[in-house]
Amino acid sequence: MINFQYARANDVAEAVRLIGRSPNAKFIAGGTNLIDLMKMDVEQPTTIVDITRLPLKQIEGMPAGGLRIGALVRNTDLAYHPLVEQRYPVLASAIMAGASQQLRNMASTGGNLLQRTRCHYFYDTAATCNKREPGSGCSAIDGHNRMHAILGASETCIAVHPSDMCVALAILEAKVHVTGVSGDRVIAFADLHRLPGDTPQRDTSLNADEIITAVELPPQGFAKNYTYLKIRDRLSYAFALVSVAVGLELDGDIIKEARFALGGVAHKPWRDPQAEAALRGQPAVATTFVSAANVLLRDAKGYGRNTFKIDLARRGIVRALTQAARGTPQSQSSKKII
Ligand code: SF4
Repeated sequence: MINFQYARANDVAEAVRLIGRSPNAKFIAGGTNLIDLMKMDVEQPTTIVDITRLPLKQIEGMPAGGLRIGALVRNTDLAYHPLVEQRYPVLASAIMAGASQQLRNMASTGGNLLQRTRCHYFYDTAATCNKREPGSGCSAIDGHNRMHAILGASETCIAVHPSDMCVALAILEAKVHVTGVSGDRVIAFADLHRLPGDTPQRDTSLNADEIITAVELPPQGFAKNYTYLKIRDRLSYAFALVSVAVGLELDGDIIKEARFALGGVAHKPWRDPQAEAALRGQPAVATTFVSAANVLLRDAKGYGRNTFKIDLARRGIVRALTQAARGTPQSQSSKKII
């Protein structure tokens, strides 16, 4: 590990000022990703700005019915908050599917959004990796790419975003509040994470001087017909091969409103307006779900070892939509299909 300066911010303005002082400064909150990256020599910050004392730890109901989640709310506290459990159970379920209890106890809401890919070549400084060292090449495209992207990838990077929580936030159409030297702004969740294109080193649309202060949830939480299905190599402490977050609104057997997003398949949580449109106004039956899955996966592409994910995603979508329509969300402890 390299030497670095440590600075503690006492308010958001000071945090923005401190991060702006050094081009290679990093915020630290839970530290559940950054410390690993520093140990592996992937991140080499010159300054660490400690933001753990900022007043961003509240979960507040909003007048219009939504929820405002401070960026420093721990993942565990968010998953077990009564308003989240009651009104946004898909979010609670997704959080509980991620990492381990110890990590969820430390990880912050803002940090979960900004965690970096777990592509093993990204963490291996002996391997070429365009995300770590732009222009050096991508070891994964012709390498061990079992965990990698099947949608939205580019010739420079086929990494996936590792978060479970973000897949749920995508269907909830959360808004991300940020502050920087130019002031405050709000980013639609769909615009926060980027596809790799030819600049895979940039994960998000945040500017270097900006800090996430809160995540806002709109009132609609899909508390009745939802699921978060995570398919992985073992039951806990594993990243998704494919995950599916679903929120449905039903009128009898007819789908009035439908949202679904996939994790583990792209550089960002993957939503497709055309696939969701294929569900609206249709009966909530298997043939409808298969059609929507086929729409979403129409441009899916495998890279050899991960090609199985295309079929896995298709079956995962159908299963998740079935579970949500029947009101039988995925349990993280019981894998019985109802
Ligand atoms: Fe690096 Fe992306 Fe290629 Fe992984 S997939 S080696 S992160 S460029």
